[in-house]
Amino acid sequence: MITDCHIHIQPLDEFKPEALALMKKTRKDFAQIEEYCRSPKAFLNYLDRIGVDRAVLINYVAPEVIGFTSAVNEFIANYVKADPKRLLPCGSVHPRHTRNVLADMEHIVRLGIRLIKIHPPHQLLYPNDYVNGVKELEIIYRAAEANGIPIMVHTGTSIFPGARNKYGDPMYVDDVAVDFPKLKILLAHGGRPLWMDTAFFLVRRHPNVYLDISGIPPKSLLTYFPRLEEIAHKTLFGTDWPGPGVPEVEKGLAQFRALTLSDATREQILSKTALEIWPA
Ligand SMILES: [Zn+2]
Repeated sequence: MITDCHIHIQPLDEFKPEALALMKKTRKDFAQIEEYCRSPKAFLNYLDRIGVDRAVLINYVAPEVIGFTSAVNEFIANYVKADPKRLLPCGSVHPRHTRNVLADMEHIVRLGIRLIKIHPPHQLLYPNDYVNGVKELEIIYRAAEANGIPIMVHTGTSIFPGARNKYGDPMYVDDVAVDFPKLKILLAHGGRPLWMDTAFFLVRRHPNVYLDISGIPPKSLLTYFPRLEEIAHKTLFGTDWPGPGVPEVEKGLAQFRALTLSDATREQILSKTALEIWPA
């Protein structure tokens, strides 16, 4: 069973014009993106064609930089009704754009959200900002931890207009891993292309921190993470399609399969780690 833990199926009408312009400029397959974001059936057929069993569908609230409001949670909860076993919804609550953080967290838990995204460069916050008085963030982590819902933190740079890359340093996740030991934390993109050493350290240091390899050019994965085999048991395959510059899912999958890795490592990363986090 192959899981792509990081695909963006999003309400495209929520994009700000600048963000949408970047997507249109960088993606030759934009018509396909539009179709899949509109039709879960078409997207499931696509997954069948390329041999992917499950996809985690990433959404998050980021009104300032991308345009996404909390409506993304309803969008994705509705979308996955086409096949909740194969389509796993990821949503979010934004600490600065919530009036009642606990009620909003309870709401997305009721919607069936399976992963909570924190996107520091797009949400303009540090993942450990609760140490600086952002109480809402602590409540989000506590609620996720109590409900057994993992979080995914974007680490590394972003080229969307208005993204602030100082927030992309994975080291700020260290506090979160210490303060919420039962919370599973997925480091998206392994800090690429600036902070891979930090990401590798955190995955080895903390039992509750995992690596999501999405957004790393698959051909360069072992250059970025030469000791990948050591953390394979906590590593997940993902593509980040259709992010700017990211190859199509089937290409990313083929390039990953072509890497010099043991069969056991390949199976662990493509299948087993995700099954441990979201059992079938
Ligand atoms: Zn992404």
